[in-house]
Amino acid sequence: MRFSTPNCPECNEQVRGTFDRIPGIAELAKTEDGDFHYAGGTDVWWDDQHPVCDETGTKASLICPNGHRWFSEVDNLAQMHF
Ligand SMILES: [Zn+2]
Repeated sequence: MRFSTPNCPECNEQVRGTFDRIPGIAELAKTEDGDFHYAGGTDVWWDDQHPVCDETGTKASLICPNGHRWFSEVDNLAQMHF
């Protein structure tokens, strides 16, 4: 894949990766009084991982080694599983 802005606009480092979201289920447990609390485990749905995109759906969120994030056009959106 090729990006229109492969270097960080803030520090000029080369892109480290795409900034992705991965859905998951934070497991809950019921207490004796009927409340719920987090049980401590998360079932991560790796197959639904996808890069965050901008509101137009045409740019991917990228991140540099220093943690800066920016949006960039990418040549093949379908390849990125938006
Ligand atoms: Zn940066």
